[in-house]
Amino acid sequence: MKAVFFERHGGLEVLKSGDLETPQPKPGQVQVKLQAAALNRLDLWVREGWPGIKLQYPHIPGADGAGVIAQLGEGVSGWQVGQRVVINPNLSCGVCEACLSGWQNRCSNWQLLGETVPGTYAEMVCVPVENLLALPEHVSARSAAAAALVFQTAWHSLIKRAGLQAGETVLVVGAAGGVNTASIQIARLAGARVLVVGSSPEKLALAQSLGAEVLIDRIKDENWSKVVYQLTQKRGVDVVVDNVGTTFAHSFRAARKGGRILTVGNTGGAKFEIDNRFVFGKHLSILGSTMSTVTDFAEVRSLVFSGQLQPVLDRDYALAQAAQAQERLAGAEYLGKITLSMDE
Ligand code: ZN
Repeated sequence: MKAVFFERHGGLEVLKSGDLETPQPKPGQVQVKLQAAALNRLDLWVREGWPGIKLQYPHIPGADGAGVIAQLGEGVSGWQVGQRVVINPNLSCGVCEACLSGWQNRCSNWQLLGETVPGTYAEMVCVPVENLLALPEHVSARSAAAAALVFQTAWHSLIKRAGLQAGETVLVVGAAGGVNTASIQIARLAGARVLVVGSSPEKLALAQSLGAEVLIDRIKDENWSKVVYQLTQKRGVDVVVDNVGTTFAHSFRAARKGGRILTVGNTGGAKFEIDNRFVFGKHLSILGSTMSTVTDFAEVRSLVFSGQLQPVLDRDYALAQAAQAQERLAGAEYLGKITLSMDE
């Protein structure tokens, strides 16, 4: 099969496009012929590597994918070859304490498709049958793939972890990335008022089109936490979605007393200082999470399928052009999800 892969960590130059052996489904697995994949920042970090990461080479990146079932592994029933599906990239063991209590994203043997197991930058991928969701005819494979990781991540964080309520105020730090555009939509759907801090008029216009009411340009208003404070009558916001990390100082100031700071990532860097006086002095809760439970995935997908939540689509590239697609993701120009399309 055609695939994009790497055999050592490094920059874009380590990505190769070529033929690899087609994976065969193990018992309980399904082989999916992919039609679309979507990129996530994680793909860049996996390619670059981090201390302790162990991969089997050649490694195929990619967590998000949608396509049609090509082959059923032994013991799989209830699915048909040719059926359209979208993949949930969370791989959980199903038997540990966390899995048994429905928190599959806290699984003690948790893995993510494309991170430590072969992913979706390929014509074929094999996944456990539990990781499939049937894809309705009216939803494109590209749109389905684009929504998979980011919408479940934003949903779990805002709805499950933060318990967001109608009438609350949510500040989203960042306007245009996959998780942020999903967070804006989910917060609006939950009945919250949304403020967004962004870095360009185009990104803020996108945030506005998704339902953000208050737009703050951080290039013009460097001290944006002060602006948020003033715009909320010196109360602060109930919830801050901060997946930059290095902006926590601002986020702490922008939150109200008793506010919640949500983090599902750190695009600005993994390590940074915080001023702990804000955490206890303002009774702040820092709520971390990653990905979602099986229930969250199904819930958020039904909202995507019904059109109530819609992934923002940036450019689409051919599979062999994955390096160009990753280069765009590493830059600052993209709006929404960057996708790959496989040849029919
Ligand atoms: Zn488990």
